[in-house]
Amino acid sequence: MMKHWMAAVVACCDGTEVSTQAKRKLKEHDIPLRLEPIESLEGTNGELTKIVFRSGPDLPRAGLFFSMGCHQAKRLGCKRDAKGGVVTDPDTEETSVPGVYVAGDVSRDVLLVAVAIAEGAQAAVA
Ligand SMILES: Cc1cc2nc3c(=O)[nH]c(=O)nc-3n(C[C@H](O)[C@H](O)[C@H](O)COP(=O)(O)OP(=O)(O)OC[C@H]3O[C@@H](n4cnc5c(N)ncnc54)[C@H](O)[C@@H]3O)c2cc1C
Repeated sequence: MMKHWMAAVVACCDGTEVSTQAKRKLKEHDIPLRLEPIESLEGTNGELTKIVFRSGPDLPRAGLFFSMGCHQAKRLGCKRDAKGGVVTDPDTEETSVPGVYVAGDVSRDVLLVAVAIAEGAQAAVA
């Protein structure tokens, strides 16, 4: 998706493991991968100017998207599907843990604002 907006996209994994499949996809889209751990994000006036790696050259950048994972749902013991999304009851958005409801991207279903809002409303009603 990023490549529709800008040519110079770089993926950074902060020293974490990257699957062979993810590496292949990045290659297919001609997206370089920086494997080194990130030391810091630097900028001026609240705007990013560069990503500093623990080793290797800095990467000048004006923007950064990051993936936060599903750590809270994992800690709560919510059942997850093969894609890592939290499994929910489609009628109530309740998870496998009674009383825990989720809405939005955490279910990794359809990742759209309208869907997140609808799921939130459904959970609130339930
Ligand atoms: C580049 C991009 C473009 C997109 N374009 C579109 C589009 O054109 N149309 C569309 O419908 N959808 C679009 N989407 C998808 C859309 O942004 C998501 O589906 C939607 O934002 C999901 O809402 P959410 O509430 O689940 O998650 P988010 O909007 O990601 O909200 C989660 C919030 O939780 C906060 N948070 C996370 N962890 C913690 C914590 N531990 N403590 C406190 N707060 C925390 C985060 O900071 C964030 O504010 C786009 C997504 C991306 C990445």
